[in-house]
Amino acid sequence: MNLIPSFSVDHTNLKPGIYISRTDYCGDTPVTTYDIRMTAPNQEPAVNIAAIHTIEHLVATYLRNDPEWKDKVIYWGPMGCLTGNYLILKGQYPCEVIRDLMIDAFREVSDYEGDVPGTTPATCGNCLMHDLPMAKWEARRYVSRLERQFCCTYPGVERPKDSAGNQFFDA
Ligand SMILES: [Zn+2]
Repeated sequence: MNLIPSFSVDHTNLKPGIYISRTDYCGDTPVTTYDIRMTAPNQEPAVNIAAIHTIEHLVATYLRNDPEWKDKVIYWGPMGCLTGNYLILKGQYPCEVIRDLMIDAFREVSDYEGDVPGTTPATCGNCLMHDLPMAKWEARRYVSRLERQFCCTYPGVERPKDSAGNQFFDA
């Protein structure tokens, strides 16, 4: 089996930011998967699972109500490693454009007051697993990272090699 492209990124040197993870085509229409990376993988704590669940609900609500973007959003959701989220959009936009969108969306999270949308047993599969105060803290930190130290180029994809020149694929 081939290593899928997102696993061939060097995750030991990946900084918070926004990256293009992959581009697929549905007919002639590009579909872009953005890596909305909130923490440095394997270097600092991942996002708390309840906080990233709350971020999922709030950012999805924001994106699917935004007049400019709602029809372009195919998917929004957390990564399994809890260090970021995937945003899948119809079309292709520079990371700087998505940065402005994410600053607006995460500002909404950091300022959010009240009930998190979709958190009843009928509307969420794990409605007790939410943490709004921690979601707001993470959102505030991510906004300041996007504003101050924006990264959008993946680090090298060269994998470590053994003495025989074989590459290690550990993902
Ligand atoms: Zn949920």
